[in-house]
Amino acid sequence: MTRYIDVNDLSQLVTQKGLAQCLTEMAEYIREDYLRWHAFEKCARLANHSPEGVIELMPISDHLLYAFKCVNGHPKNPETGRLTVMAFGALADVDTGTPLLISEMTLTTAIRTAATSALAARYLARTNSRSMALIGNGSQSEFQALAFHTLLGIEEIRLYDVDPKATAKLAANLSGFPAIKVILAGSVAEAVRGADIVTTVTADKTYATILTPDMIEPGMHLNAVGGDCPGKTELHRDIVERARVVVEYEPQSRIEGEIQQMPQDSPIIEFWRVVNGEVVGRDCEQSVTLFDSVGFALEDYSALRYVLDTAKALDIGSEIELVPDLKDPKDLFARLQPKASVPQKKRA
Ligand code: NAD
Repeated sequence: MTRYIDVNDLSQLVTQKGLAQCLTEMAEYIREDYLRWHAFEKCARLANHSPEGVIELMPISDHLLYAFKCVNGHPKNPETGRLTVMAFGALADVDTGTPLLISEMTLTTAIRTAATSALAARYLARTNSRSMALIGNGSQSEFQALAFHTLLGIEEIRLYDVDPKATAKLAANLSGFPAIKVILAGSVAEAVRGADIVTTVTADKTYATILTPDMIEPGMHLNAVGGDCPGKTELHRDIVERARVVVEYEPQSRIEGEIQQMPQDSPIIEFWRVVNGEVVGRDCEQSVTLFDSVGFALEDYSALRYVLDTAKALDIGSEIELVPDLKDPKDLFARLQPKASVPQKKRA
């Protein structure tokens, strides 16, 4: 039987644990897996592009588990009442191929992306960072705000979005966290001025320049999350050229990240080397650091591993017959016979 986690189950899991705890624990799972970088069989994700968006398949495995996520990115979806990013994924046992987990991954992706951003900032941002500008106030934004508050102690968050309703929604959702001081900014420049960290998490299928060089101050850490597809970037090229750039997996980031604007041999550092202590994240107080995030399959492997462990511990989800459960494994045909018992979806 395969554990099945739908949106209700995932929501119950996060409610029982608390989102701050989930962000912290998932960040630790991600860190553990980045420490084992060479144990993974990796590839850039397979992307199917269309005029309005992309659907991507993200596989990865080690000697124990195989994981994949199927995820889309359609920036115009909210205009018709749909999410920009939706996802589902699975974990399978490498020795036998047996599917162990099939899970919603829309909420899970928001948590894993925010956990990864905050984890990267722990290595790259100045240790005394207390304020963050958050540009793009859509679905991912609350998760980013809470991850940086929980994992880095960010106390002040300046919000800006071209859609004032999105900013009002984010401000309302953050009002339940009195330890976070929320400031509504009138422009990107106003939000960014004097901030220790700048997170861009906008959605637009274009070479956008959300941040321009005149906005960047010495010592800032930039967490660029929204540029994650060919032809979809958020930063002016000169910022990327001057920053200390850290990426998740170079072969994928060269195609999809902010560094798609740069020559193929432009200097970058892969994040696993920073986590392993091979390279320092921040080399001096004055450096501008850039986490050029596109989202890598390893983070989804960690997230699915976390969901399965936590769902088992809390007895959340159901067990489904995703593949036939046979008395005789050579008699698949028997499963089509009317008298074959049909196991029902069971609570775990
Ligand atoms: P969303 O559509 O819910 O929100 C995006 C917001 O960006 C909207 O409110 C929109 O008004 C705003 N926006 C668009 N252009 C802007 C501009 N020029 N200035 C200010 N705001 C602007 O999308 P979401 O689910 O929050 O995702 C945001 C982005 O993050 C997407 O591009 C998505 O592909 C990306 N993403 C990346 C990762 C990763 O791992 N790197 C993971 C998930 C999502």
